[in-house]
Amino acid sequence: MLNGKTALITGASSGIGKAIAIDMAKAGANIALNYYKDRECAEEVCELVKAEGVECKIYECDVADFTKTKELTDTILADFSQVDILVNNAGIARDNPILRITEKDYDDVMDINLKGSFNMIKHLYPAFMKQRSGTIINIASVCGVRGWHWQASYAASKGGLISLTKTVAKELASRGVTCNAIAPGFIQTAMTAALKGDKKDELVSSIPLSRVGAPTDVSKLAVFLASEGASYITGEVIKVDGGLCI
Ligand code: NAP
Repeated sequence: MLNGKTALITGASSGIGKAIAIDMAKAGANIALNYYKDRECAEEVCELVKAEGVECKIYECDVADFTKTKELTDTILADFSQVDILVNNAGIARDNPILRITEKDYDDVMDINLKGSFNMIKHLYPAFMKQRSGTIINIASVCGVRGWHWQASYAASKGGLISLTKTVAKELASRGVTCNAIAPGFIQTAMTAALKGDKKDELVSSIPLSRVGAPTDVSKLAVFLASEGASYITGEVIKVDGGLCI
C-alpha cells in the first residue's frame, strides 16, 4: 500500500509510534524514525523496521524545539529526498487536577503535543506544497474531543491539535495534501501503564468492546490513512476507542 513512500514518524521509539513505524514498513514505506530520550529502544525499532526490507534511519530530536526540528526536517529531506507521510505522534501526559497542575507541566505538555506537531508541519510545509502530494496524520486523543477530568493540559493540547488538523487540511487541500487526526481511546502503552487495578477495571467496563486497545489498533488505521484508498479523506478526526465515546 505504501511502496516506495517515505514516512517520518515522531516519537517512534515506543508504543503507538513504534507500531506505526513497523506497520508502515510492512506496507512498503521507508521510515525516518524520530525519538527523544530512548536511543536503545529507537535502535530496536529500527532493526524491526529494516527486517521488513525497507530503509530506516533514526533521528534524535525534541519536537518542542523549533530550531532543532528545522534541522531535523532539513536532514531528513536530504537523506530521503522527499517526505510523503508525516505522523505527528510524539506526546506526553501529566495527569493532575487543575488545582495541582504546575506551570511547567502545563507548558511541557503543550510544547510537545501541540507546538511539536506545529513545528513539524511548519518546517515540512514548503516541501509538501512543492511536491503537491503527501499526507499528515496527527495522533490526537478522545480527551481532545470530549475533555477528561485530571487531563486539562493534555486535553487542551489534543483539542488544539484537532483544530490544527482541520486548518492544515483546508490550507493544503489545493496542493493535494491531506491531513487527518486519529483520536485513540485507552491504548496499552507506557503512557497508560500506571493505570492498574480497580481504576483500570472501571475504565475497561465503560468501553463497549470491553477491552483496552493495542497500539496496532491505531497503526492499522494510520496505514490506511496514508494509502491511496484514503486520498479523498481530509480534515477528519477518527476515534479508535472501542466505542468509549459513543
Ligand atoms: P509512549 O509509549 O510513552 O510513547 C511516547 C513517544 O513519544 C516515545 O517514543 C517518546 O520518545 C516520544 N516523545 C516524548 N517526548 C518527546 C519529545 N519531546 N520529542 C520527540 N519525541 C518525544 O506513549 P504512546 O501511548 O505510544 O503515545 C503516543 C501518542 O499517542 C501520544 O501523542 C499520545 O498522546 C497519543 N495517545 C495515546 C493514548 C494511549 O492510551 N496510550 C491515547 C490517546 C492518544 P522517547 O521515549 O525516545 O523520549
